[in-house]
Amino acid sequence: MQCNCSIFGDEQSHEAIVIDPGDNIEDIVRVLDRHGLQVKAIVITHAHIDHIGGAARLKSLTGAPVYMNRNDATLYDHLDTQASWLGMETPSQTEIDSEARDGDTLQLQGTEFRVLHTPGHTQGSISIWIPSENKLIAGDTLFRDSIGRTDLPGGDGRQILRSIHDKLLTLPDSTVVVPGHGPNTTIGRERERNPFLL
Ligand SMILES: [Zn+2]
Repeated sequence: MQCNCSIFGDEQSHEAIVIDPGDNIEDIVRVLDRHGLQVKAIVITHAHIDHIGGAARLKSLTGAPVYMNRNDATLYDHLDTQASWLGMETPSQTEIDSEARDGDTLQLQGTEFRVLHTPGHTQGSISIWIPSENKLIAGDTLFRDSIGRTDLPGGDGRQILRSIHDKLLTLPDSTVVVPGHGPNTTIGRERERNPFLL
């Protein structure tokens, strides 16, 4: 479904964190196997089906806990509605194991993955900042030259701008942004050129 899924693996411990397994779980498992990685956490940036659709399946294959912000619980409960919009079958659903609150930190060996609550695209949208890797996984909050749509249930146009200005544009300019869709960018580039943020 054209959603960017990120896999972070530690070379020493062979532990991995998978962010947004929307679909194509076989491809994800193939990458994990190729590098001998064991999934320690499945992190969901928000409960849209293209980001969370494969979470239950990946969890059943790996036993890893699922992290999602609780403000998207209702959206996840309506996965069948989302599936019907796209004319697809409803994927199986899973329990959410951890709430992924603002300020929470996940660890992959020494590497910190920090949860930033960035509501606006959905109420439970989070971004994951990995300071030591100089990377931000932005979900559908910030794109290259664009921002997430806010016309779907739970969307709020003012709120997404506040989230981006307060939580994302305050990160270092060199931070590489991996959006939920499309090509990577940097915080500096979006601060300077993103037409929605000028
Ligand atoms: Zn979305």
